[in-house]
Amino acid sequence: MLVTLKQAGDDMAMSESQSELESALDHLHATHEEGRIGQRLNWLRAGVLGANDGIVSVAGVVVGVAAASPGNTAAIATAGIAALVAGAFSMAGGEYVSVSTQRDTEKALIAKEIQELKEQPAAELAELTGLYRKRGLSPDLARQVAEELTKHDALAAHAEVELGIDPEELTSPWAAAVSSFVAFTVGALIPLLMILLPIGHATVVTAVSVVVGLLLTGWISARLGNAPVLPAIIRNVFMGSATMAATYLIGLVFGVAIG
Ligand SMILES: [Zn+2]
Repeated sequence: MLVTLKQAGDDMAMSESQSELESALDHLHATHEEGRIGQRLNWLRAGVLGANDGIVSVAGVVVGVAAASPGNTAAIATAGIAALVAGAFSMAGGEYVSVSTQRDTEKALIAKEIQELKEQPAAELAELTGLYRKRGLSPDLARQVAEELTKHDALAAHAEVELGIDPEELTSPWAAAVSSFVAFTVGALIPLLMILLPIGHATVVTAVSVVVGLLLTGWISARLGNAPVLPAIIRNVFMGSATMAATYLIGLVFGVAIG
């Protein structure tokens, strides 16, 4: 009888710490999932920023050239297309270089981690335990979580907690390059097509369509970042309009000086 009672007590203690452990793991898993959603949002945000760049820089160029040589469709089209191509390649190249470098850094860190796990597993387990203690788990629970995760996938645990990397999800430099190329081009096509419309007041039409585009990108990026929408839109529209105003004035001055 005594033995049974003791056993029951042990079982209860066990199931209690077991559920504590499970909720700890659930929590870790949940933060991991949030990280993935965050990553997807980052991509989306990068796309919106790329489109925003395309709108503003090509709008600045075509409005400036149109102010310098009104009605010179060939000059406006040439400048606009050159700005689109140069901007898209420059954005894509920049993304490719920066993501490649980041990827190399992550690869080096993971390789070092693999070696450490192989050569000094005890020290690595202690390190992981320490990291979970820093995150607020009690010593026993931290140890238990570290042991379970080490058994499950030691590298993934170290990569995530120690380095903040998901080894299965290294970002592709080519994907980053292509998506920013596309995003910039989509944005750039708005002012480029508008300024070339065979209608009167093409500059005004372009400016209005650019403002509408910036309203949209400002709204989307505020929503993605959970930021207040109105200030984001106002800032975005103001910066884009200031760019167009500046190149328009420069175009007017140069047009008068040259023509
Ligand atoms: Zn480690």
